[in-house]
Amino acid sequence: MAYCDTAKINKTRIIFNQKYKNIVSDARVIHKISYQKLIDENTAASLREYLDMNYDNIDICAYGKFTKPDYYAFTISLCFDQSILEKYDNWEDLSKTEIQNVSTLSRPHDSQCCCGQHITEVYTFNGGYTSAIVGNVCMEKSNITNISVLEKLSKIRKEKSLDKKRKRLTEEDKTQVWYKNERRCLGTNDRICNRRISRKEPYWKSRCIHCHKNTKKTQEKTQETKKAETNCDIDGDKNSSSNFWKDMWDSFDIQEQPHNVPIGTRQQCYWTDGMRIHRVKQSDGSWKYN
Ligand SMILES: [Zn+2]
Ligand SMILES: [Zn+2]
Repeated sequence: MAYCDTAKINKTRIIFNQKYKNIVSDARVIHKISYQKLIDENTAASLREYLDMNYDNIDICAYGKFTKPDYYAFTISLCFDQSILEKYDNWEDLSKTEIQNVSTLSRPHDSQCCCGQHITEVYTFNGGYTSAIVGNVCMEKSNITNISVLEKLSKIRKEKSLDKKRKRLTEEDKTQVWYKNERRCLGTNDRICNRRISRKEPYWKSRCIHCHKNTKKTQEKTQETKKAETNCDIDGDKNSSSNFWKDMWDSFDIQEQPHNVPIGTRQQCYWTDGMRIHRVKQSDGSWKYN
């Protein structure tokens, strides 16, 4: 059962042969999978139905209905250009060679992986032809051996879990005796800080000196990288002030309001002492804070 061994590599029972590649090719036409289209939740759902309909036309290495890993593999196949699929005759070679171009993007809202599973950690998988919405479980299970993709995933996960912890602490802090006169240091992107800052300090002093220095260092580093990449000047002040408000928003938006909203959407969250943070969605997808 050599076929099955290679099929397992990508955690699917679908055998990657010409029959299968033809089904993928037909699906592109029938479901209008055009270049750079995002395979959204609705398209993914109809693709799963399409795969079910073609059960008898596809070779699988173990009997039984299609399951999530099979739906996932099918969607991922559609993310590549057909000419790329045609180059390979097994899943192992395809995934080792071509799943190097995956990009991960965090999309912070409840969603559904292309396999049909409900997910809260949302990424987009980009195969160069088109992209699909995927969850961390499928990403990690699908033999993505590219170190930079794995590192990116683990970084995003770490930041998210810190965000959750921050939000919980913000709630806990409100019940503390000191909360009336002090606030917690915002910490750094990768660290929660236990130091406290007196409320007599100006509001922009949101970090202790230690965290302030660390954040500044990281920002300078990011700016240096950006400068090197784009070879143009970056308005440092503008950059750090928008980072500042974004940090504040992330720390104080207890309701976890959606980020993915129409242009012009206004949101606000409670900050402190009757002050609120406001933000408006811009046409380029960013937020303007004040
Ligand atoms: Zn999935
Ligand atoms: Zn600190």
